[in-house]
Amino acid sequence: MTDDRQQGFDTLQIHAGASPDPATGARQTPIYQTTAYVFRDSDHAAALFNLQEVGYIYSRLTNPTVSALADRICALEGGAGAVCCSSGHAAQIMALFPLMGPGCNIVASTRLYGGTITQFSQTIKRFGWSCTFVDTDDLDAVKSAIDENTRAVFCESIANPGGYITDIPALAAIADDAGVPLIVDNTSATPYLCNPISLGATLVVHSTTKYLTGNGTVTGGAIVDSGKFDWSASDKFPSLSQPEPAYHGLAFHPALGPMAFTFHSIAVGLRDLGMTMNPQGAHYTLMGIETLSLRMRKHVANAQKVAEWLENDPRIDSVTYPGLPSSPYHDRIEKICPKGAGALFTFAVKGGYDACVKLVDSLELFSHVANLGDARSLIIHSASTTHRQLSPEQQEAAGAAPNMVRVSIGIEEAEDIIADLDQALAKATA
Ligand SMILES: *Cc1c(COP(=O)(O)O)cnc(C)c1O
Repeated sequence: MTDDRQQGFDTLQIHAGASPDPATGARQTPIYQTTAYVFRDSDHAAALFNLQEVGYIYSRLTNPTVSALADRICALEGGAGAVCCSSGHAAQIMALFPLMGPGCNIVASTRLYGGTITQFSQTIKRFGWSCTFVDTDDLDAVKSAIDENTRAVFCESIANPGGYITDIPALAAIADDAGVPLIVDNTSATPYLCNPISLGATLVVHSTTKYLTGNGTVTGGAIVDSGKFDWSASDKFPSLSQPEPAYHGLAFHPALGPMAFTFHSIAVGLRDLGMTMNPQGAHYTLMGIETLSLRMRKHVANAQKVAEWLENDPRIDSVTYPGLPSSPYHDRIEKICPKGAGALFTFAVKGGYDACVKLVDSLELFSHVANLGDARSLIIHSASTTHRQLSPEQQEAAGAAPNMVRVSIGIEEAEDIIADLDQALAKATA
């Protein structure tokens, strides 16, 4: 490219981060199945360890296949830097790790992936961290939940399982006022439908396991940094802005500028936590991501058709898809996810818990799995599975009540998806 115009999404999803292999000319990004990389000489090794030169040392830190994926996700999200890791849950810990210390807390939405609620309400306590959950539609509640020990606000762009759309600019403004970053889990929306950084987020996390891979083959995660947050503006983030004892006293910010967070995540986060993505896994996600926009367009179109059909079916009590004018979040689509409201929603079946279980067991095209964002249509009864560990109040708040099933609408023919629901609903409500 001779001009510096910004390439479009459909181009970046195929080309960003990868050029033909310099050694062989291989057009597709090779799987660099190696643990270590030979240093040119001792000076080269020293420069790499001092972060004076960027290069490969050891695959727990960086690997060329994994880096191609990180750079591609970074380009799609419009970030300054990105790091891949072993799963979406790893990405969440990796995103919080540079920000937090014992006694610190985060303020998070009540509407999150069930596993994230468990991670934030239980597991992070073992690190001396805590989480306050708030209804992120109640902006005053978000403001008053933030205290002097808060180090981040956390939400999902389109929240699993109910298809709730978060007012990201409003939360970003509150986080900015409090001098803390907003972290957005953009898994369900993908960068094709939503760009949290352009809406004011500092960090974006992904479970690449879902739509970015798109074929249900590997787990993975990513953290993208906008590069815009001033980590040195207060003393809240000493691991970034003060000499870091875990990296021979280097103060990552401001020394490494907009790459401070990303370098910290590699040099300290991946080095010491070891939640590394492997090159084979990165390869599957690189294959999937090439068709992300094509798949998301079909996911959204199918979800709209299926949601409309369900809403008009007498066996159904309610449908949460934000693409329906009846959704309270319909008005947010234009601002937050203008290309569509994703393909994940819940619906309430007349007949409650028992009818839901029967529906799930009677479907033939749909797969009953604890996953989402596959090319295939998927269904799960959240209350008896992913949201099982939660209290009834937490289930209700998370949009996973006992009479609800969650669907992740695939990219099959919409008519076939509807026909399968039709026959299974007949059995479930007979
Ligand atoms: C699946 C998921 C996660 C966790 O990701 P894993 O790759 O399964 O660890 C986090 N957030 C959301 C929104 C998810 O859908």
